[in-house]
Amino acid sequence: MTESIPFNRPYLTGNEMKWVQEAWAARKLSGDGPLTRRCSAFFEERYRVPRALLTTSCTDALEMAAILSRIQPGDEVIAPSYTFVSSVNPFLLRGAKVRFVDSRPDHPGMDEAAVEALVTPRTKVIVVVHYAGVACDMDILMRVAQKHGLKVVEDAAQCIEAHYMGRQLGTIGDFGAFSFHETKNIQCGEGGLLLVNDPAESVRAEIIREKGTNRTAFFRGEVDKYGWVDIGSSFLPAESIAAMLWAQVECLERIQARRMILWRRYHEGLAKLAGEGLACLPGIPDYAGHNAHLFYLVLRDLAQRTEFIEHMKRLGIMAVFHYQSLHKSRFFENQGDGQALPMADRYTDCLVRLPLFHELPEEGQDRIINATLSYFGF
Ligand SMILES: *Cc1c(COP(=O)(O)O)cnc(C)c1O
Repeated sequence: MTESIPFNRPYLTGNEMKWVQEAWAARKLSGDGPLTRRCSAFFEERYRVPRALLTTSCTDALEMAAILSRIQPGDEVIAPSYTFVSSVNPFLLRGAKVRFVDSRPDHPGMDEAAVEALVTPRTKVIVVVHYAGVACDMDILMRVAQKHGLKVVEDAAQCIEAHYMGRQLGTIGDFGAFSFHETKNIQCGEGGLLLVNDPAESVRAEIIREKGTNRTAFFRGEVDKYGWVDIGSSFLPAESIAAMLWAQVECLERIQARRMILWRRYHEGLAKLAGEGLACLPGIPDYAGHNAHLFYLVLRDLAQRTEFIEHMKRLGIMAVFHYQSLHKSRFFENQGDGQALPMADRYTDCLVRLPLFHELPEEGQDRIINATLSYFGF
């Protein structure tokens, strides 16, 4: 029996323990030590943003963004339905209501052209989710936001090293939130990053992240004592987490290069499925420079997808579906306006992801490609 291929296997560069030991040896174990600062400085420089703050997760970075956007009870946010719960929960926790937008026919990302019709006098924020690290059309979304005075929060959880017209995702809206969960391109188990793109919000972001205190400014020597100045929570990761992340950040380009090779091999190896109209492959708009976060197929219907996943499992390959559209979730189904979102439903039922991880060898990938083709009779 050949070895089975998992859907994901988090990659470790080998330097993680070295940096964790350095943090331990320095006896600097809580947040914002030298390794946290190294990670922040790296992203501030590379992505040219006023402030990049490590957080305990992308969910937490989004909670910070919701507070920074000054969401009040009764405000509304617009977000895609085909996404993870963390794209919207942080806004609901602040008392907002969500209005869901459908996905695009050619891509699981949000239908930019459908956003403006959802704007009401109560709308405060557009939550932009770049599915699979493939950019949404930010020109359209930023124009709607400017016209109606809305904030833009980019849920860039999957978007490390991904671009819109050459601009890093997460740097275009007001705030960008990234994830370093073990399923993402670079990871530290659980972790996140908030990009603060408006320099006027940097200090408030630091305060919210440090329990509502100006402790960060105190450590920089800008104030002679610190105290309670705003609402906030504890959003900063321990140094050992930042140490692990630094080991990944150091290898960012190598990790990305490997993923891009694997992604392109899938695209070439499976091109004939699209050519013969048997399945849709990921569509990448001209303006999007993606980061090989995911490789997926969109099949005909739920029955076919279930059969395909079974077929792959019999061959020892873990192919998995993805989001269940949020507008139909048990939590939300009775709260919405009952509006049909047919494309979100389509990706809920028909999208399947193939294994894609750093240590997937070419021979393993060839097995996956052949197993996929064999399902379609090739
Ligand atoms: C992974 C992910 C999140 C959550 O990230 P955490 O770091 O686990 O909180 C949020 N949104 C999207 C789109 C994601 O893919």
